[in-house]
Amino acid sequence: MSAASASGLLPLEAALERMFDRLQPLPTTTVGVDDAVGRVLAEPIIAHVTMPPWDNSAMDGFAIQATDVVGATKRWPKTLRVVGESSAGHAPEIEVRPGTAVRILTGAMIPVGADAVVPVEETDAPAGIADLPDSVTVRAPAAMGANIRAAGSDLHQGDRLLEPGIRVSPAAVAVIVAAGHGAVRVHRRPRVAVLATGDELVEAGAPLGPGQIHDSNAPAISAQARLLGAEVRRLGIVPDRLAEVERRLAEAVAWADVVVASGGVSVGAHDVVKAAFERFGELDLWRVAIQPGKPLAFGRAVGPEGGIVLFFGLPGNPVSTFVTFELFVRPVLRRLSGDRDPLARDAVRARLASPMTKARGRRAFIRVVLQPDPEAAGAWLAVSAGGQGSHVLSALAAANGLAIIPEDVDGLPAGAEVDVWRLEGA
Ligand code: AMP
Ligand code: MG
Repeated sequence: MSAASASGLLPLEAALERMFDRLQPLPTTTVGVDDAVGRVLAEPIIAHVTMPPWDNSAMDGFAIQATDVVGATKRWPKTLRVVGESSAGHAPEIEVRPGTAVRILTGAMIPVGADAVVPVEETDAPAGIADLPDSVTVRAPAAMGANIRAAGSDLHQGDRLLEPGIRVSPAAVAVIVAAGHGAVRVHRRPRVAVLATGDELVEAGAPLGPGQIHDSNAPAISAQARLLGAEVRRLGIVPDRLAEVERRLAEAVAWADVVVASGGVSVGAHDVVKAAFERFGELDLWRVAIQPGKPLAFGRAVGPEGGIVLFFGLPGNPVSTFVTFELFVRPVLRRLSGDRDPLARDAVRARLASPMTKARGRRAFIRVVLQPDPEAAGAWLAVSAGGQGSHVLSALAAANGLAIIPEDVDGLPAGAEVDVWRLEGA
C-alpha cells in the first residue's frame, strides 16, 4: 500500500486512481430517441437540418410589407386588403404586395413579399378562430423583420450540437429530434449487482425478530445506481457464511460490470466478503482517509466474456454505505457509462452555521442542509442535518448536501467556509 500515509490510511485520491486504472467506457449501442434520456452520448450530435427551416411567424397576426405601415408620411390607422392565409404545415400560395396582408398563424411560413408580422392584437381583427376578413386595419407601425423568426436562427445544418460524453437530458432529446435524428449512439448502461451481507438483516417490510434490522443498504445502493442510469439486479441478503457469499458472488460476476456489496469489510470475525471474493479475483481491503467510510474493499475479477468485473465492498453502516457509494461507486459508474467528466460534482461554497468536529487525518463529509445565507445575499449557509454518526439515516435523509472538511484539521468553527456537494435527488 505504497500510497498510504504514515497513519496507514489511503488518501481518497489514491483510492480513486486505483479504481480508475485501465477503466474504459462500456461498448456503444444505438437507441431510439424515446429511450435516450439519461444515456451518455457516444457520438457528437450534428444537425441534419436547419431550424427553423424557413422564415416563420412568431405570432398570430398578419404578414405585411413593413413599408406599408411605417414612416411619418403614412396615414394612421392603415387599412390593408387581406388576400389569403398562411397556416402551420402548409406552404402559402399567395404573395404579399404593397397594400395587402396575409393572415398568418404562429409557426407558419412567411409568404413571399412579406417582411413583417403585425400581431392580431395590434389590428382590428378578432383574435381566435374567425372567417378570413376582407381587410384589416393596423393600429401601430411595424418594423422590418418584426415577429419573424429567421430561417437558421436556432440551428444550421452541420452545426455540432452536443458532444460525446454528455448525459442526454429531456431538453437534449428535443434538440436531437429537431436536428433530424431518430436514434442516437450511446454507451451501454452499467450492470450493477447489489447484495447485502449480514446475519441481522431482513427484507424491507418484513417483521423484525430479536437482533434483526431491515436491510436498508441494498435498496439505497440500488436507488443510487439507478439514478445514474445503471441496470440493477438485486441479489438479496446474504448471511455471513463463506459458502453462501461465494454462491451469490458467482451469480453476480456472471452478469455484472460492477458488484456492490455492503457490510462485512471491517475486521470483524464474521467478515467473509474478502475470502469469498478471492475465489473470483483480487481484492484489497483499504482504510481510506475519509469519515465516514474508512474500511472499504475493492477488487477486480474477470467476467464470463473476458470483461472486467469490479467489486466494491462498502462498509455496512448505512451512512458510510451511502457516502462511499457517492465517493467511489458513482464516479466509476459514470466512467463506465462514458461520462466525459466522471468526477464532476455540483458544488457550492458555504459557511458552516455551527462548529463541526472530526477526526484529524481524514476528510469528513458532513450531512448538511444548504440554505440561503440570511446575512449575505447570494451566499449559502450549511446547517447540520442532524446527528453525524454513521448510523443516523434520519439526518442523511434530511440533508441536501455533503460539506467537506479537510484532512488536516480536527474541526472548523462556525462561519468557516467549506465546499458542499449538492446531493442529487435529495
Ligand atoms: P458491518 O460493516 O457488516 O460490520 O456492519 C456495520 C453496521 O452496519 C452494523 O451495525 C450493521 O448492522 C449495519 N448494517 C450492515 N449492513 C446493513 C444493511 N444492509 N442495512 C442496514 N444496516 C446494515
Ligand atoms: Mg455485518
